[in-house]
Amino acid sequence: MRRTIFDEEHEAFRASAREFLDREVRPRHEEMIADRAIPRDVWLEAGKQGFLGLAIPQEYGGGGVGDDYRFATVWAEELSAVSAAFSSCFGIHGDVVAPYLTELTTEEQRQRWLPGFCTGEIVTAIAMTEPSGGSDLAALRTTAVRDGDAWVLNGSKTFITNGCSADLVVVAARTGPAKGAKGISLFGVETGMEGFTRGRKLDKVGQDESDTAELFFDNVRVPEDNLIGELDRGFIHMMERLPQERIGAAVCNLSHAAAILEETIQYTKERKAFGQAIGTFQYNKFTIAELVTKIEVTQAFVDQCVMAHSARGLSAVDAAKAKWWTAQVQNDVLDVCVQLHGGYGFMNEYRVARAWRDARVTPIWAGSNEIMKELIGRDLGL
Ligand SMILES: Cc1cc2nc3c(=O)[nH]c(=O)nc-3n(C[C@H](O)[C@H](O)[C@H](O)COP(=O)(O)OP(=O)(O)OC[C@H]3O[C@@H](n4cnc5c(N)ncnc54)[C@H](O)[C@@H]3O)c2cc1C
Repeated sequence: MRRTIFDEEHEAFRASAREFLDREVRPRHEEMIADRAIPRDVWLEAGKQGFLGLAIPQEYGGGGVGDDYRFATVWAEELSAVSAAFSSCFGIHGDVVAPYLTELTTEEQRQRWLPGFCTGEIVTAIAMTEPSGGSDLAALRTTAVRDGDAWVLNGSKTFITNGCSADLVVVAARTGPAKGAKGISLFGVETGMEGFTRGRKLDKVGQDESDTAELFFDNVRVPEDNLIGELDRGFIHMMERLPQERIGAAVCNLSHAAAILEETIQYTKERKAFGQAIGTFQYNKFTIAELVTKIEVTQAFVDQCVMAHSARGLSAVDAAKAKWWTAQVQNDVLDVCVQLHGGYGFMNEYRVARAWRDARVTPIWAGSNEIMKELIGRDLGL
């Protein structure tokens, strides 16, 4: 079905994103999988081409696209069509962290961080999840205690995307010991701060190209100037920005599944069994027809969400619906794609096998699918 949400300028942007990925990323994909990281020169090249700070105002070196979320959508779709890990790493930086640094910062902080953010000299991460739990964000245990003109951070975070390579990490910490969700604040923790260390790159089931790490804070003195947003309002700041993270996740989930399904359809036209193309067996033909329909119907909902978000009207509940549903569709589609590849579908050298492993995390992260359904249920008064 023809999508109608993009204008000529978005399509031109898509062409340049594809060209960048074909030139800089695809040829080095295996190297990134082996290193379990995106090399800095790729970040810098992405910065040079203007992909890192799409929504950052131009005065700080960004793309200045404002609320038009279609540009971020195009970039995310093209990244995830190559690899779910790329859309995760670049998405955390340009889509998830960016609003914290533009909307909650002081002018001094924007001058300090945003130009490097846009060039790729400052890669970013966001650290909410802790070893003791991620779903119950209000129960986080990392503490920040005021000491003169600084905050002293103690605790640890885990599963942090870009955790090893990030130069600046937005860290959620407890500033009000007995205040629950009302006692959390956000801090910019930078490489080189004494007591800030990183654990090993975590060994994941999929998404090998992304660096995912544990972070440790041992009496880290974070200057007062690195408080992001209002003291004790960190939980609200995070809740307000989660819809963007979730619609971003939905865009990636769907684009990733659609790209692999397209390749699988081609495979089923070429691969023969019992003298005929495997896609022409009625069972497979009907299965593929169902999946294509599921993708396109889902795309219509996600596109509506993208337009609503561009008009600043996407509700947290609709973002939750888009996030859990696309994660489910993606995993359903990829499971069938593996099956249609037969034994080759289980071989790592086949993109479909990696994609299947890469997708398993999407119902878990960015708020698990169970938490999404909890939000939807609560909105129904249940
Ligand atoms: C590869 C990867 C990258 C990640 N990147 C980041 C990152 O950059 N920054 C960051 O902060 N975090 C990141 N995360 C963490 C991710 O957001 C958490 O894993 C997720 O929020 C779930 O938290 P948890 O793992 O502690 O599971 P838990 O909270 O322990 O939940 C375990 C299970 O219980 C279920 N559950 C919990 N509460 C309920 C409930 N009320 N009702 C029903 N079921 C419930 C969950 O859905 C889940 O199935 C990443 C995780 C992974 C795997």
